[in-house]
Amino acid sequence: GFRRAGRLDGIELSEIVRITERAAQLRAQGVDVIALSTGEPDFPTPPHVVEAAHRAAQDGQTRYPPTAGTPALRAAIAAEAGAEPANVIVSTGAKQVLAGAFLASLDPGDEVIAAAPFWTSYADMVKLAGGVPVVLDCPPAQGFKLTPVQLEAAITPRTRWLLLNTPSNPTGAVYSKAELQALGAVLERHPQVWVISDEIYRHLAYVPFTPFVQAVPALAGRTLTVNGVSKAYSMTGWRIGWGIGPAPLIKAMVEVQGQITSGACSIAQAAALAAITGPQDLLAERRAEMRARRDLVVRGLNDAGLDCALPDGAFYAFPRTPAKMPVDHEFCRYLLDEAGVALVPGRAFGMPGHLRLSFAYATKSLQEGLRRIADATAKL
Ligand code: PLP
Repeated sequence: GFRRAGRLDGIELSEIVRITERAAQLRAQGVDVIALSTGEPDFPTPPHVVEAAHRAAQDGQTRYPPTAGTPALRAAIAAEAGAEPANVIVSTGAKQVLAGAFLASLDPGDEVIAAAPFWTSYADMVKLAGGVPVVLDCPPAQGFKLTPVQLEAAITPRTRWLLLNTPSNPTGAVYSKAELQALGAVLERHPQVWVISDEIYRHLAYVPFTPFVQAVPALAGRTLTVNGVSKAYSMTGWRIGWGIGPAPLIKAMVEVQGQITSGACSIAQAAALAAITGPQDLLAERRAEMRARRDLVVRGLNDAGLDCALPDGAFYAFPRTPAKMPVDHEFCRYLLDEAGVALVPGRAFGMPGHLRLSFAYATKSLQEGLRRIADATAKL
């Protein structure tokens, strides 16, 4: 029979995928399910971006692109970041940037500090690359954010990375400039520790947003900024993300990528170029729409008795479970089976006792979802 590699031990099928599949199953049985479980904007990819992809295909941009990304896209990303093209790698989604960074840098036993709650893939990616995730609990009382004291206490000689995500999936937490500087001050004392700042939701911040490198320029020489077009431009299926960092790190990541996928899809890179160099008004429009949805959802959840803080960014609400059914996966199961609403339990993000609701859905679905959640919670 098939023998799974040991490196898959402890890696699980994403709970988000499992819930989305269960919701699809129920739908196939004729159940009317409202899924508020995936982190994908419901807006279409902007038409001018789709046209750029058409043109690229017709113009023959159909050959293997350079492994690090097309010169045009790397130059545009570098220009926006005030960096050089040698500081930029374009990959098949931000996901591959993160995986590539870990594969390029971690030796067995190397540690990566992550603040929980965190995006589900972080810990598994680190483990797949042979590293050890060091997960620090950041409860609501501290705004779901890592404190300098926690960071200092967690650093060891084996620490290679601090993994930050601002704005955060699943909590929407956004680190202020001062908070980033306080974390940076700790790291200045520990030169072995580099920083990954995953800023994929940067265009969806409802408070002032500061990129990590801008807050702590002294650490630019050991910071990898991760970004992409998936969330801001509704381009999740195009699979384009990028990393900006020191040239030796980027070079190592390009070597990894060269043996795994080669350069990201040439047509999708042309589309991403159109997205970041074309008209940007849609960013503010979509942010305003998401903000209105956020206000609707947070009010609805609190009215239903689910204690929920106001997220400062991204498109997720992260309320507590109700006192009458505090176990998150039980409550999620109850909501899906009894009310036809799919949410994700907090344990998938390293923080049980909470739920993640994505509000990247049409207002009508959100209203119906909230009504069902309120009814089901009242019946407990
Ligand atoms: N980083 C975070 C925090 C995310 O939430 C996601 C997607 O859910 C990604 C990275 C991956 O983005 P991409 O679609 O560019 O691979």
